Amino acid sequence: MTQNNIVILGAGFGGLRVALDLQKKLPSPEWQIYLVDRNDCHLYIPLLYEVATGYFGNNKPTEEILAQGCCLNISQLLGKRVQFLQDEVVRIDCKKKSISLRDGKTLQFSYLVLALGSAPDYFGVPGLEANACTFGGLADALKLRRRISDFIERKRKGELSKINIIIGGGGATGVEFAAELVQSFLCLKNYGVLRAGDWQITLVEALPRLLSVLSLKASALALARLEKQGVKIMLDTCIKSAAPGEIILAPRPLKSGEKENDLVCEFLPEHEKKMKADLIVWAGGIKSNGLLAQCGLTTDRKGRVEVNAQMRVKDMEDVFALGDNALLINPQNNQAVPMLAQAAIAEAKIAAKNIASLIQGMALINYSFPEFPTANPIGGKRAIIVFKNLIFDGFVGWVVRQAADLRYFLSIMPLFAALNFFFRGVRVYTKND
Ligand SMILES: Cc1cc2nc3c(=O)[nH]c(=O)nc-3n(C[C@H](O)[C@H](O)[C@H](O)COP(=O)(O)OP(=O)(O)OC[C@H]3O[C@@H](n4cnc5c(N)ncnc54)[C@H](O)[C@@H]3O)c2cc1C
Repeated sequence: MTQNNIVILGAGFGGLRVALDLQKKLPSPEWQIYLVDRNDCHLYIPLLYEVATGYFGNNKPTEEILAQGCCLNISQLLGKRVQFLQDEVVRIDCKKKSISLRDGKTLQFSYLVLALGSAPDYFGVPGLEANACTFGGLADALKLRRRISDFIERKRKGELSKINIIIGGGGATGVEFAAELVQSFLCLKNYGVLRAGDWQITLVEALPRLLSVLSLKASALALARLEKQGVKIMLDTCIKSAAPGEIILAPRPLKSGEKENDLVCEFLPEHEKKMKADLIVWAGGIKSNGLLAQCGLTTDRKGRVEVNAQMRVKDMEDVFALGDNALLINPQNNQAVPMLAQAAIAEAKIAAKNIASLIQGMALINYSFPEFPTANPIGGKRAIIVFKNLIFDGFVGWVVRQAADLRYFLSIMPLFAALNFFFRGVRVYTKND
């Protein structure tokens, strides 16, 4: 293989953007661009909760149809300049500039882009990994869907007294999933499949409010909406341990200067609470892909490698990292850039531009630390949108969120393919709204 290789690991938000930009910036075949991913589909993760909770009633969509709303064939998104390899990366050797793949192949690189995404962070809670479902990828979402579907069937047949679902983590993923799930159950109630009281959805959050990275107003809107829908919210409450069919909760540990009475945990005096859980869903945290640390790269507590504003890994001129793999500190507030798809895409544009500039002998550019709007669906045709000091929710929020989804599809596909993909998803995913 030629030595002029650019190897991009991961075809998620960041990796795909680098590949698409590089194929435009480096039209000459002198440089070979490889994109490696273990899956053949590019997953639009923000719609994953729809796969898990999409309509469960009569004529429910098949798993294939649900998956088609958020999965795009990677090869079909790429031009001839990029060679896609569906394989699993098993080893990264930055000194020898080589990548080992599961099928035994080795790729040498001149420039490397690390964009391998994240994995759930269980924070060492005993029993959580073994007993909880997560939202890591399509397979997780389908597994969740099958479990929920099975509970609905058993409830219909009278084999289950109540469906108890506990969701750990009241950030964006936990709130969106809880809101969509309760929406599905309410829809089944309207069709006479389930009755009020047939289910209990509990959302457990260790901090005193939901969506804690957003403003107080956004948190209050999410809380009000979920409580109105009948979701039980337990704040200032941690999952202490998990076992098959049950979970132990505890008030969160006090910070220095705090008193017990400052917590809003509802079982404070008892100090511990056991709850029955037919299904535990863990949405309480993510960390970077563990492969980076396993391969000897220096990583932070969340498994991310430190990069500079050019997206180059510290002390490595030819290795770039982005998205959930990168620890990039914003010098204005000393905070790490958040693990968001929007950040991965923005960082990918800088990485692609800088790789092309290095090859063409041009000046490198820096990441500008943009502020990102957030759009959190809260069940049905409703979403909470936050941008700077602006907050709005309800149907207008949902329309804005749809526009953001469509904008992304237009950025990676031709117009008609993007419109077709978008409207097909909307048709399937709004069946229970
Ligand atoms: C449920 C959920 C909802 C979210 N919603 C939003 C949202 O609304 N807005 C937002 O901005 N962000 C959202 N995020 C966060 C966002 O998805 C991530 O920050 C973003 O995907 C990171 O992009 P990335 O390119 O770093 O990694 P990813 O997009 O995760 O891509 C990583 C790729 O690497 C591949 N890969 C991993 N390991 C290997 C291996 N060993 N070999 C080969 N391939 C491998 C994977 O298959 C994947 O394709 C959400 C996250 C979750 C979990």
